[in-house]
Amino acid sequence: KSAIHRICAGQVILDLSSAVKELVENSLDAGATSIEIALKNYGEEWFQVIDNGCGISPNNFKVLALKYHTSKLTDFPDLQSLTTFGFRGEALSSLCALGNLTVETRTRNESIATHLTFDHLGLITAEKKMARKIGTTVAVKNLFCDLPVRRKEFSRNIRKEYGKLISLLNAYALCAKGVRLVCTNTTAKNIKSVVLKTQGSDSLKDNIITVFGMDTFTCLEPVNMRILDTCKVDGFISRPGQGSGRNLGDRQFFFVNGRPVDMPKVSKLINEIYKGANSRQYPIAVINFAIPTKACDVNVTPDKRKIFFSDEVSIMSSLREALEKIYSPNHA
Ligand code: ADP
Ligand code: MG
Repeated sequence: KSAIHRICAGQVILDLSSAVKELVENSLDAGATSIEIALKNYGEEWFQVIDNGCGISPNNFKVLALKYHTSKLTDFPDLQSLTTFGFRGEALSSLCALGNLTVETRTRNESIATHLTFDHLGLITAEKKMARKIGTTVAVKNLFCDLPVRRKEFSRNIRKEYGKLISLLNAYALCAKGVRLVCTNTTAKNIKSVVLKTQGSDSLKDNIITVFGMDTFTCLEPVNMRILDTCKVDGFISRPGQGSGRNLGDRQFFFVNGRPVDMPKVSKLINEIYKGANSRQYPIAVINFAIPTKACDVNVTPDKRKIFFSDEVSIMSSLREALEKIYSPNHA
């Protein structure tokens, strides 16, 4: 049973960044306004996500890390509610199967926090009281420890995994409005450094300045458009001729209803249109698509980063038209 569980879990949690993504999304779902991602040895030894969200009530401790347990029901009247991106109770259970999971948590109804240790099946093996502010810390030690081949790959590629994680955290730093994000890394020699720190501004503009810097921001222009009545597109994109000049797509961030997603087709479209103006550089793009969740399917890939619009053809053609205006030679 536990071998099957591990294999399934390995399809939900693919790497360091998909593991951390799940924890950060849980913190956002818990209403946190401050989230710290702490890594030991770039995440190879352990990683933890510390938040000041609502905490977990003691009634939920036993079932917390069991498969398909979720406290997030899907009957929210607001279809664009953030919880749409919750993982249907698979993240904590998968992380238990793939590493050593501990949770510290306290809600406003408790005067003291609880520290829980879980086994690979998601059962509690130790429980003790501790001091902590309201909120939750989820820690994972030795990711992939029981999958020796995967663990070896993980260790070998740790810097690459770390790079991918930083890019994901930049995406959250851009989109998470009113949430302070900090990421620290502690090296094997116990030297701790802050690798990302945001103020938790409410404006995308401020977040872009924090992540990319003011010089970059001045090369961007706002995008604000409505396509097909139902979809609102807004954000910032490079002015003609003012690209990032770096690798393809390394400064392109796309969001659907405020959550980071991969949009290779949109990226390709932007690059293609932009090329007409300047063939050497790639444009920077930070774009959110506000769209009724009915009109998109986020459940296509296990890590929920790929997304499909049900009316993709019309959305893409409207987008093309709007972008061509921005990049046409006689644009003011
Ligand atoms: P899901 O997010 O789909 O509900 P998870 O496995 O990610 O599934 O989490 C299981 C449950 O654990 C959540 O429904 C939530 O009740 C609780 N939980 C996990 N992380 C946190 C957190 N940081 N703060 C509060 N509750 C949390
Ligand atoms: Mg979750």
